[in-house]
Amino acid sequence: MKYFSTRGGDQKLSFEETVLTGLAPNGGLYIPENIPSLPSDWRTNWKDYSFVDLSVAVLSLYISPNEISEQELRTLAEKSYRTFRHPDVTPLKKLGDKTFILELFHGPTFAFKDVALQLLGNLFEFFLLRRNAKKIPGEQQETLTVVGATSGDTGSAAIYGLRNKANISIFILHPKGRVSPIQEAQMTTVTDANVHNVAVKGTFDDCQDIVKALFADKEFNSEHRLGAVNSINWARILAQTVYYFLSFFHFQSQLPEGTSLEDVEIQYVVPTGNFGDILAGYYAKKMGLPMGKLVVATNANDILARFWKTGRYEKVDSSAVEGEGAAAPAGGSSNGKQGTDASGVKETLSPAMDILVSSNFERLLWYLAYETAEGEDDAARRTATSKTLDTWMYKVKIDGRVEVPVAALEAGRKDFLAERISDEMTLTTIQSYFDGQPSYVADPHTAVGLAAAGIIAPKNSPNTYQIVLSTAHPAKFSEAVSKALEGSSHFNFDRDVLPQEFHGLLEKEKRVIDVERPDIDLVKGVIGRFAKSDEHTAVEAGSV
Ligand SMILES: *Cc1c(COP(=O)(O)O)cnc(C)c1O
Repeated sequence: MKYFSTRGGDQKLSFEETVLTGLAPNGGLYIPENIPSLPSDWRTNWKDYSFVDLSVAVLSLYISPNEISEQELRTLAEKSYRTFRHPDVTPLKKLGDKTFILELFHGPTFAFKDVALQLLGNLFEFFLLRRNAKKIPGEQQETLTVVGATSGDTGSAAIYGLRNKANISIFILHPKGRVSPIQEAQMTTVTDANVHNVAVKGTFDDCQDIVKALFADKEFNSEHRLGAVNSINWARILAQTVYYFLSFFHFQSQLPEGTSLEDVEIQYVVPTGNFGDILAGYYAKKMGLPMGKLVVATNANDILARFWKTGRYEKVDSSAVEGEGAAAPAGGSSNGKQGTDASGVKETLSPAMDILVSSNFERLLWYLAYETAEGEDDAARRTATSKTLDTWMYKVKIDGRVEVPVAALEAGRKDFLAERISDEMTLTTIQSYFDGQPSYVADPHTAVGLAAAGIIAPKNSPNTYQIVLSTAHPAKFSEAVSKALEGSSHFNFDRDVLPQEFHGLLEKEKRVIDVERPDIDLVKGVIGRFAKSDEHTAVEAGSV
């Protein structure tokens, strides 16, 4: 299997090159040459497969065996999912008559990104070790310096994915004092020598700007071979397809007696930000996993929900006249906490979904454009599709918007529904599920999914079952959960929510490098000082 950029070009990459490259040089995202279909006997053969078994079965359809053999793939998957606390890795739980919840947060940092990042870290290490094994003694070893910025939610998943990996160092910048104490502790208590938490005196945007500038600095980039682990990496999407398959089989085994799978429809509901999680579901669907429409659940950062209404992919809601919508004045929404930062992103109770544009959406746009593209043969259609994508993404960059043809929107509507959920609805949903039978404490991201499921359910056919993806443990977002449940006398955060692993976390040993100003040269200095030393010695963290 080879991969190509959504924006075209003749370049065809192996899986390894695709994973190590991340973003294509022409700005596009890599997608597989074709979406493989399932082996004819998958339903019977895969029925009792574990998460690891399914990882091997699904991933091997996308990775040539001469790149990674099945045995190697199994070893990588075992290593990646051993770190999960639940034997099913991603268990499916019944919440109501027609509602199931797919818990994706049983990994080391209690958030769904672990599913992908645990595997990605092992893949990086596998590739580098293999390349280095071929070098002659004395030849320069290949290394990777992963750099990223976090506002708190996702940095820890990257750190846990890459901690203690050979030939890799990781630098995660966070705004000092501006991430929640638990999230800060989750990152800074990782004391492995190759992990560098950089606390920058400044804002999250400052951190992000520094990271962008580092990647744009060709000289620095090639000297250190910078790598990104952001959500556009193909391996992350691929790893996430696995739980759609697993949940399908677990759903099958929980169906009421006398109900056949042929008579029901599964509707996956996915809290969505950068469109990675739900895109994995789209690939599973296109491979042949039976499901109804996928539901995109967004918070007030609703560029995707608006797309399915209007066919316009636009940063600012041009149809918003007053009140809500991105055209509202900064911070002027009636939505309680809600404010808008300089870039136009709204702060919500589900911060991991606070985005302006959705980085993986370009991949779906390629398929929508392809379905409606013209050309003499498939090759001509593909070329035309990539040209279209190039034009569309250029418009998004320059004008902040693009409107796709009706036919492409219609193609998108065949596979997706979308709902936007406010912070108020998020809070009331957390309350109602806590008061429900069984009582369930949802994190605010999961609550966005549950709320969207509740809006859509009455319109579903009676034989539709909803599987809502749960993307974080409620303990990670204590502020929103406590706010929602503060009126419930029988709720106690420490007793009902806080996992054992979080007890005493704040008192553990920390390792963090302070940077006194949001200054790129100071950060370069930190990377230069620590990256080189990783392979040999553990260096004491200090102040810069
Ligand atoms: C990243 C994240 C999401 C959004 O996932 P995407 O793949 O970006 O759509 C939702 N919830 C949580 C808790 C996350 O960390």
